Amino acid sequence: MSLFTDFPMREELTRAVTDMGFETPTPIQQKVIPILLSQPSDIIGLAQTGTGKTAAFGLPLLHYIDTSVKHVQALVLSPTRELCMQIQNEFAKYGQHINGFQSVAVYGGVPIMGQIREIKSKPQVIVATPGRLMDLLERKALNLDEVKFVVLDEADEMLNMGFREDIDVILKTTPSREHTWLFSATMSNEVRGIAKRFMKEWQELSVTVANTTNENIDHQYYVTNHHNRFETLQRLLDFAPGIYGIIFTRTKNDCQEIAEKLMKQGYHVSPLHGDMDQKMRSKVMDRFKSKQLQAIVATDVAARGIDVNDITHVINYELPDDPEVYTHRSGRTARAGKSGICMSIVTPREISNIRNIERIVKQKFNKTDIPDGGDVVRKKLFFFLDQIATIEPKADFAETYQTIIHERFDEIGKDELIRRLIWLQLKDTMENYSESNDLNAGFGAAGTGASRGPASAGAGWKRLFINLGEKDGLNTDRLLDFIHESTDVEKNMIERITVRDMSSFFNVRADAADFIQTSLSSKKYKTRKVRVEDAEQSRGGGGGGRPSGGGGYRGGNNGSSSYGGRSGGGRSGGSSEGRGFSGGWRSNSDREQGGRRFSEKPEFKRKSDGGGTSERGGYFKPKR
Ligand code: AMP
Repeated sequence: MSLFTDFPMREELTRAVTDMGFETPTPIQQKVIPILLSQPSDIIGLAQTGTGKTAAFGLPLLHYIDTSVKHVQALVLSPTRELCMQIQNEFAKYGQHINGFQSVAVYGGVPIMGQIREIKSKPQVIVATPGRLMDLLERKALNLDEVKFVVLDEADEMLNMGFREDIDVILKTTPSREHTWLFSATMSNEVRGIAKRFMKEWQELSVTVANTTNENIDHQYYVTNHHNRFETLQRLLDFAPGIYGIIFTRTKNDCQEIAEKLMKQGYHVSPLHGDMDQKMRSKVMDRFKSKQLQAIVATDVAARGIDVNDITHVINYELPDDPEVYTHRSGRTARAGKSGICMSIVTPREISNIRNIERIVKQKFNKTDIPDGGDVVRKKLFFFLDQIATIEPKADFAETYQTIIHERFDEIGKDELIRRLIWLQLKDTMENYSESNDLNAGFGAAGTGASRGPASAGAGWKRLFINLGEKDGLNTDRLLDFIHESTDVEKNMIERITVRDMSSFFNVRADAADFIQTSLSSKKYKTRKVRVEDAEQSRGGGGGGRPSGGGGYRGGNNGSSSYGGRSGGGRSGGSSEGRGFSGGWRSNSDREQGGRRFSEKPEFKRKSDGGGTSERGGYFKPKR
């Protein structure tokens, strides 16, 4: 693998990428940059957004720019204004040490006069959307006669958006064009058509599916009935208190409607779609980038230009028809070497679409249970505890208020104080989830109260509990690997893995259950001794498993050491917690707890049906 310093690139560019913190070139950069630097021949780069393709063409492009000549030498065409702005920003960084370098971005949705003025300052590079560029050419505000390099970025998307004719006209308006570099996530006949019409012998360089960033995505799907889609979305958002995500919808109407419904319920989200004017879209992007929003609800086209690297979750409210669109969506997370989660909400009928996408992206999707009320509250509790454990209060804060606080709470013991603070933080969530349906399709989703505990393992399968979870660095894939490697049991004998904070559940073929349980129980994971139990027993001492409805976990016993329970602090004092948002999601960490300071399930006593004597009336009652 080469480094940026190995590339025979002008020194100003090497310095700039070092300033930007780039260390090793991404796979597409490894392939493209050396070729374009040695001989700027025509190329087609097959790479999605998030792969580092902008630098793959941008660095060689700037390498060839002659700043002593004051005319446009390079043109980059991109489908959306957001992407245009993003490329322009990247170019400004790459070119920061090149004296006299100037690039101008031109795109629709803003007054053209300002852009005409900028063009008069004689930039060497123009980054443009096809529509606005056509406008400028018609007004004769721009001359492309001397352009030597043309880059078509996201060519497939430009064609999808109906820019074919504009692209043809623009390419014909560049008589001095010597090199054409085309980038596209997909290689359709139409894309090939452009290449045939306008490019000389070209090389194809691809990093589509094999791109390492994709391997960092945990693809999960949640099966629910169509009428529960929105509630499932809420549940997933509540279960991810640290989320910084994008929720994809298929239509602008859905986008607007879902965002409005979420906002009404106190979620910090905003819609982003093509019917919003440029000013509004920029405002939304600013709020998102500054993390005032926990998620954006977006259509595919509007989301193309979101240039944010630390997206933790992508949620598909509905699956797209085209698997390629799925890869675009999921590629918004796990960028620049980070990991991410892509969740899809599907109905039972749509599971076949998941299989189809699995084949195309060559990755296994994990069927994951929709969390129940108890899961959500527990997750929030850990998130809150983690915030307390890691926050660093302002230095003089204690001095200013310590005395007042001490005087006020002199009489209350530490445990009681903690109990009250946590109650204050969680009570809204607990109340919201006091009666929560099991949203998993086929498991009491209609409020029948059916269990998705062990019984849900289905005939021939058994559900097991294991004392390892996210805290141990596991996700569904890693747990599956661990079980497989520790027992030699084939992966297809293990299903429905649900990884929780401190523990996980999975279904195994009934005839292999005892073997798996025994073999795993003698193992260690890292330093932890592994414990595997029949999920039924682990949930209630041999009773009927989890109480019905998936919402059956009960708040802690009144006055007990549990943090749940109604008596904990009553309803006095306003909760600081907005729904699904406790202020703390600004932290990128989605971890609930810094260390393993609590027992497996400290905060809620799980009640079994106790062989038919179900205890009801707690916080998590089944909905009828
Ligand atoms: P792109 O696919 O061009 O949209 O790039 C995605 C993000 O990755 C951008 O924010 C780039 O600044 C960043 N990036 C590109 N190349 C590298 C690299 N070699 N190392 C680290 N980050 C990079």
